[in-house]
Amino acid sequence: MTFSIHGLAVARGIAIGRAVLVASGRADVAHYFVQPEQVEDEIERVRRGRNAVVEELQRLQVEMPADAPHELTALLDVHLMLLQDEALTGGVKHWITERLYNAEWALTTQLEVIARQFDEMEDEYLRERKADLEQVVERILRHMKGVALPVVPPAHSPRRKTPQGLLPSDMLDTPLVLVAHDLSPADMLQFKQSVFAGFVTDVGGKTSHTAIVARSMGIPSVVGARAASQLVRQDDWVIIDGDAGVVIVDPSPIILAEYGFRQRQAELERERLTRLRHTCAITSDGHKVELLANIEQPGDALAAVRAGAVGVGLFRSEFLFMGKSGHLPGEDEQYRAYCEAIDGMQGLPVTIRTIDVGADKPLDKGHKDNHLNPALGLRAIRWSLADPVMFRTQLRAVLRAAAHGKVNLLFPMLAHQHEIRQTLAQVDLARAELDARGAPYGPVQLGAMIEVPAAALMVRSFLKHFDFLSIGTNDLIQYTLAIDRADEAVAHLYDPLHPAVLRLVADVIAQGQAQGKSVCVCGETAGDVGMTRLLLGLGLRSFSMHPAQILAVKQEVLRADTRKLAPWAQQVLQGDEPEDWREPVEARRQGF
Ligand code: PEP
Ligand code: MG
Repeated sequence: MTFSIHGLAVARGIAIGRAVLVASGRADVAHYFVQPEQVEDEIERVRRGRNAVVEELQRLQVEMPADAPHELTALLDVHLMLLQDEALTGGVKHWITERLYNAEWALTTQLEVIARQFDEMEDEYLRERKADLEQVVERILRHMKGVALPVVPPAHSPRRKTPQGLLPSDMLDTPLVLVAHDLSPADMLQFKQSVFAGFVTDVGGKTSHTAIVARSMGIPSVVGARAASQLVRQDDWVIIDGDAGVVIVDPSPIILAEYGFRQRQAELERERLTRLRHTCAITSDGHKVELLANIEQPGDALAAVRAGAVGVGLFRSEFLFMGKSGHLPGEDEQYRAYCEAIDGMQGLPVTIRTIDVGADKPLDKGHKDNHLNPALGLRAIRWSLADPVMFRTQLRAVLRAAAHGKVNLLFPMLAHQHEIRQTLAQVDLARAELDARGAPYGPVQLGAMIEVPAAALMVRSFLKHFDFLSIGTNDLIQYTLAIDRADEAVAHLYDPLHPAVLRLVADVIAQGQAQGKSVCVCGETAGDVGMTRLLLGLGLRSFSMHPAQILAVKQEVLRADTRKLAPWAQQVLQGDEPEDWREPVEARRQGF
């Protein structure tokens, strides 16, 4: 039966596909397709992993002291029984043979299927066996590590048929959409090269970092869909409407046909926009506007250049540091990554932001931030200044990379004068260290992110110390309105049009202009076509956003006349009621 789930629209577009449920904490398992000729090997890998665990448990049984508690021996029996269970082994074989999933993916998919069945059981004892099953699968996965087959790139995905008559005949490739309770930004990054055509998560806000990475992939996504991971079953047909933030489960043929049509329309619109790629972003009254790219990894530079970005306005360097089990990349490794991004941008400038971990960007997903208010805790520049050795390692790597191309260095979340002083002192020290070593390095422009209200309110003093400013609206909204950007429960209060936010943004732009210094907006607002005119009206001439959004924003710029927008923007600024402006903003988002 068709039903829909409402969440938050994160990345635009429509995805239609079959649901793949990924249990929390299982997202780090590789997801790729194997070739038909690799099926037997994959099944063999699972078999070997399972046999190794059986041997391990049997050994434990033998070595168990005679006076061991009965519960322990009973537990081993249960684990051994689960390992032999046809529901597990047969199911895994099915996913590998029928779907060509790699062994680990097949194993975790089947785990999810059986776990559901356990959840639905009346008997509490049996329901609790789910945890045992998870432990058994964990053991198999551990044994399988190191004997994985090479990853097959998504282009080699097998073609699979849609159910007869359900979808138009030209859609023979059925995409898969991932449904999970939660995904960390690092998980999301793993899925960047993956096979999934859409993402749905139960939790998360519109500008949570998970949502940001999903948007950067340009893949339709919905977050904050509450119970989606419980309501959707493995393999269900699902439509993700990334424009409306709706997930439709088990759609009827008529709904499928409608969404299939909308999907093709969106594709045509995307193709039409690509014609703007080489067009300069100039308003109709002649103001040049800089459209830059936000990237997470050096490899994203390619997408940035393809989208016609005139540089990188925000390289979120923390993504280089994530998922490394606490092993931070050294100076040379970072240097190579920065050089790769610089080379990828083919002579265009690259703004590298120093590490910004903490809050919803843990270094490792297992590394839970137990502080009461992680968003207000030791994150971003606070984290860097708390570990100057690590901080200077990054600074030296960036300074060295600056010898290869135009580099700007950006610092996140500064709020205090003493933080500014300490940060600049660390840059001087890093230069001195390179001098002492005789290592070459290049010049960098230094910039501060304005993402804390305190910084926006004392912007004049920031302008004294820095060459440029970049407004991080994601955090500026979060901290001005006291709304956790990653919490879907308060997502309705997260408002870029709130007069307090607009006044802070307007003031920073105006002060920057008055001092002749560049001010960019690099938060998600910059890539929101509903906001482009307002920001232009407020005087903004530099926008940094995910490459996937550049052409749509460019279209808005080309149509804009700042002579009309400036007085309108002042009117918006003086008003107290954001509702008055919501309609035109929404209309631009819908493309009217
Ligand atoms: C911001 O806060 O707007 C920003 C660009 O930084 P991040 O989203 O990485 O916190
Ligand atoms: Mg920020």
